[in-house]
Amino acid sequence: MSAPEIVDLAVAQAPRLITGVPGPEAMARIERDRKVTSPSLPRAYPFVPRRGAGSVVEDVDGNLFLDLNAGIAVTSTGHTHPRVVAAIQRQAEELIHYSASDFFLPIYTDVCERLDEIAGMSKPARSFLTNSGTEAVEAGIKLARYATGRQYVIAFFGSFHGRSYGSVSLTASKARYRTGFGPLLPGVLHSFFGDFEYLEEVLFKRLVSPHEVAAIVVEPILGEGGYVLPPEGWFRYLRELCTRHGILLVADEVQSGMGRTGKMWAMQHFGAEPDILLVGKGIASGMPLGAMVARDDLMTWEIGAHGSTYGGNPLSCAAALATIDLIEDGLIENAERVGSFLLDGLRDMQARRPLIKEVRGLGLMIGIEFQDHDTMIVVEQAAFRRGLLVLGAGDDVVRMCPPLVFRRDQAETALEVFEEAVAEAGGS
Ligand code: PLP
Repeated sequence: MSAPEIVDLAVAQAPRLITGVPGPEAMARIERDRKVTSPSLPRAYPFVPRRGAGSVVEDVDGNLFLDLNAGIAVTSTGHTHPRVVAAIQRQAEELIHYSASDFFLPIYTDVCERLDEIAGMSKPARSFLTNSGTEAVEAGIKLARYATGRQYVIAFFGSFHGRSYGSVSLTASKARYRTGFGPLLPGVLHSFFGDFEYLEEVLFKRLVSPHEVAAIVVEPILGEGGYVLPPEGWFRYLRELCTRHGILLVADEVQSGMGRTGKMWAMQHFGAEPDILLVGKGIASGMPLGAMVARDDLMTWEIGAHGSTYGGNPLSCAAALATIDLIEDGLIENAERVGSFLLDGLRDMQARRPLIKEVRGLGLMIGIEFQDHDTMIVVEQAAFRRGLLVLGAGDDVVRMCPPLVFRRDQAETALEVFEEAVAEAGGS
């Protein structure tokens, strides 16, 4: 028997399927997985990745997929970018761990300095590094309460901020995330994303004085909630409202940040500066890292108030420094350029395919809304069977959030394959 072909994924054309998907090895893996993993894991479809490079991922059967998920908006520089891999390898040979909470880890400082530079805040910023987006949200809630001495936090219906008790109390995209877990964190209220009245006319008049509100926590673009953009002027309104009442505006840029929308932060499209910025996902190209970045004058908490054993571990920090360099060195522009091409192509497709209700997005954060949930699922699964990885969001939206290295020729292929998937759903 000849040895299996090792494909150079960095130059490979995808999709290229050599078995039906899932293939035999994938099915065997899934059977083992189902016996030992938590049934709470919300697996979207039977994709079993083995290797990746750029925007191409090979599964365990040797099928090549074009990845418009980026590991759920995480692998910003593409899978296994050589400069990120080299940075992790170098760091692994020097020091894998030392808790930065209890000692002074130089690379932790380096990342916080870089975050101060790129945060775009009008005052100096300090950062607290975490292992995940959820923990960044958690840190943001704690700091906002601590710094203001106020207890209430307002979030928005449709938002996703994570699943720990604090963050899931803000999350309001699906009841499933909360069902069976109550009571959740007290003092959390919800308003409507993009609404100009409910906060003041209902919440502040009927439920809570604005002077007891510590923070408004908001995604610039709803992510898990369906890639929903805010209406014109809404963030300027929120900024002014927060300033007027001494409320902290906390921008959860875990999904929308790090260049994905064609600017470093999605908030920069909307003309409002947050007081606290929450970062995760794309910051370290797949290594676990999050950050809660706040204006210097807000970091009033005292020694010991918050910490973490692993948060900002050296390997993640090394990956983050390489990632930030790459993002600043052309990937933001690429996200803007290839994202516009993809958006235009999808809008043309919408004109031909009545199943598509709306195409929206900024940069490489694109949502395609279908007429209903079932149609969206059919399209998502049909795309997978053709080797195109996309993922549902909200009730009826397919999201595209490829790596920021996504190329124009790959976008052309993605459009062709996606249209076939839409056609399979009945959109002739
Ligand atoms: N905030 C937003 C906007 C997110 O999209 C997510 C994850 O999808 C989180 C927070 C939670 O991040 P993590 O899954 O890294 O804990």
